Amino acid sequence: MAYKITGQCISCDLCLSVCPTGAIKIIDGNRWIDPELCTNCVGSIHTVAQCKAGCPTCDGCVKQPSDYWEDWFANYNRVLAKLTNKQDYWDRWFNCYSQKLILSN
Ligand code: SF4
Ligand code: SF4
Repeated sequence: MAYKITGQCISCDLCLSVCPTGAIKIIDGNRWIDPELCTNCVGSIHTVAQCKAGCPTCDGCVKQPSDYWEDWFANYNRVLAKLTNKQDYWDRWFNCYSQKLILSN
């Protein structure tokens, strides 16, 4: 589940430049986190959410309450996207698997 910007935001814009995925945008004058781009900073060089860490307010950036299965599927899709982004991943997987099958028969 992505982070979101709340009504506590004072529009300082510090979080815009620190987000490693460029998920934070200004739309109609309001700061907004694109949930499709927010990775919770997982997989980046950062160990904590950068928007929350640098926010001068207490609750300007907060993690949205998460649903277990929604989180599970989000992680699953992220890992799958990483794997399938390697263009020949499934070709190589199939070649390797079929070779093993041939050798075992
Ligand atoms: S760092 Fe906090 S206060 Fe500043 S724009 Fe981002 S959410 Fe708003
Ligand atoms: S948690 Fe990380 S990736 Fe998500 S909006 Fe904040 S800084 Fe960007």
